[in-house]
Amino acid sequence: MEPLDSWYAKTLLLMGSVMIVAIRAPHGQRSRTIPVVHRGQGGIERTLLALAWVAFFLPLLWVFTPWFGFADYPLRPLPLGLGALAVALGLVLFHRSHADLGTNWSITLEVREGHRLVTHGVYRQIRHPMYTALLLHGAGLAVAVPNWVAGPIYLVVMALLVACRLGPEEALMRATFGAEYEAYASRTRRLVPHVW
Ligand code: SAH
Repeated sequence: MEPLDSWYAKTLLLMGSVMIVAIRAPHGQRSRTIPVVHRGQGGIERTLLALAWVAFFLPLLWVFTPWFGFADYPLRPLPLGLGALAVALGLVLFHRSHADLGTNWSITLEVREGHRLVTHGVYRQIRHPMYTALLLHGAGLAVAVPNWVAGPIYLVVMALLVACRLGPEEALMRATFGAEYEAYASRTRRLVPHVW
């Protein structure tokens, strides 16, 4: 089959990025008004968060500049379709997890005033639906963006961030919610329902 114009992947990338920002913005604004009572952020976490910003914006440079042209390859319909599907699923889950987590959301490891353990909605089956959503989004871009740098960078950084964060985040939740979190953890999986 003929390769497609990379314009399709660029549109997907732009729309996906705008949606991520649009879904998160109101929650970010609201949660800023609630005081933090415990901060679990370390040096690695700060570095990874900075890297996550780079990984979010670098693919946009691929769209708007010729700088990453050396790593381009032809776009095929199947990867574009599969990638778009993963991005769409990721966005739906990203929206649902923000809605369910409400004011308990933070961009980093924090416990806020009046923090409640959320176990309903998309948190009923897995403990980290927002991370699953970001990994789905990243996997979709990795498959659909026909560039060896701009395509996989978000997935790679998100996978690193999630890998380094799950342990400390669950420890923070255990320290905050004790037996309630133990019980919750024993009936749920981390990222993939029924699997892990
Ligand atoms: N790991 C979750 C939440 C990501 S946001 C997910 O992927 O969906 C990170 C913040 O959420 C952390 O600061 C932590 O305090 C909070 N958090 C994580 N799980 C939570 C839960 N089940 N209920 C309430 N807050 C939670």
